[in-house]
Amino acid sequence: MKNKEKVVLITGGSGLVGSAIKALQSNYPNFFFYFPSSQLYNLTEQSDVRNMFDKLMPDYVVHCAAKVGGIQLNLNEPAEQFTQNILMNTFMIDEAHRIGVKKFIAFSSVCALPDLPDGYSADENYLHLGPPPTPHYSYAMAKRMVDVQLEAYKKQYGFQGCSIIPTNIFGPNDNYNLINGHVVPCLIHKFHNAWKDRTEVEIWGDGSPKREFIYSQDLAKICLDLLSKDEEMPQRLIIPGQEYSIKEIVDKIKQIYDFDVYKRPDDIWNINVNYNTSKPNGQMRRKTESLYFNELFPNFEYTDINLALKESVKWFNLNFPNVRL
Ligand code: NDP
Repeated sequence: MKNKEKVVLITGGSGLVGSAIKALQSNYPNFFFYFPSSQLYNLTEQSDVRNMFDKLMPDYVVHCAAKVGGIQLNLNEPAEQFTQNILMNTFMIDEAHRIGVKKFIAFSSVCALPDLPDGYSADENYLHLGPPPTPHYSYAMAKRMVDVQLEAYKKQYGFQGCSIIPTNIFGPNDNYNLINGHVVPCLIHKFHNAWKDRTEVEIWGDGSPKREFIYSQDLAKICLDLLSKDEEMPQRLIIPGQEYSIKEIVDKIKQIYDFDVYKRPDDIWNINVNYNTSKPNGQMRRKTESLYFNELFPNFEYTDINLALKESVKWFNLNFPNVRL
């Protein structure tokens, strides 16, 4: 480690966001990174978190570790989702403050924002203005507490923390579980199965609901650029994604499976998609709007969604079945 380097601790380095940061390390030569694993330090144990900070003494922290899942996990394991996330965040922020960390980034979630009627978009000031959506309640409340803790530590100690509120993240090293995963990894896994078994893909609803999506590498870049900037970080920051309907995302993944990645020249079979309209669509639109993002990152160039999806499919195919399923 050279003297000019800032020591950056990344937790959750094996996960979706942490591994994307790992992939970008060489673009940030002024940072010296540590990616300790959960085997080395279990962040729900205060003594482990304390030992980790005493040993690594980071200047900056990006705290990606969390117990994360889609709607089913949030419904089925609300107690674990609450307690594990609350413990990790509480110990991480407290120990970071104790050793004098200069910048601390943690993750909240778009599902921590209150449910708004269709057509309304939420900015950072909406975070505590109403309960989060019922299926996500305990996970979402644990995520909201990141913001409460950071604000308290800023007021009392001047601690510089930012809680990032990302939209739907996807990319390599995602959780591709069909029940507990998020939209994009679930779709990729479904298409993979349909392609392998020559079956169809079933989608709940008619595909018209819209969601925002962000590629993990774009989010990783935003986090590291935030650490690199001289100015103070906002205390909470929504990271807007690119908005598409579920059907648009389905069509793009279908295109990759039908034509780009797997197609043999002699193969005329294409995957059929069955929109099961007897199942609910869910909320039609969940749009975010950031008060700070455009000022901090004017004209941010998102990775082309087709390319990002193709990279994710490629990664899944290359690593299957040794992926999180
Ligand atoms: P992942 O599920 O991909 O990764 C979670 C990471 O946390 C893994 O590396 C895991 O390590 C680590 N971890 C879990 N429990 C512990 C523990 N007790 N001690 C130490 N490490 C632990 O998460 P993402 O990268 O998807 O999420 C990053 C952040 O972004 C999270 O805070 C999440 O809530 C938030 N977020 C994610 C969204 C998404 O769409 N994925 C959307 C909005 C917010 P191991 O594998 O060894 O268990």
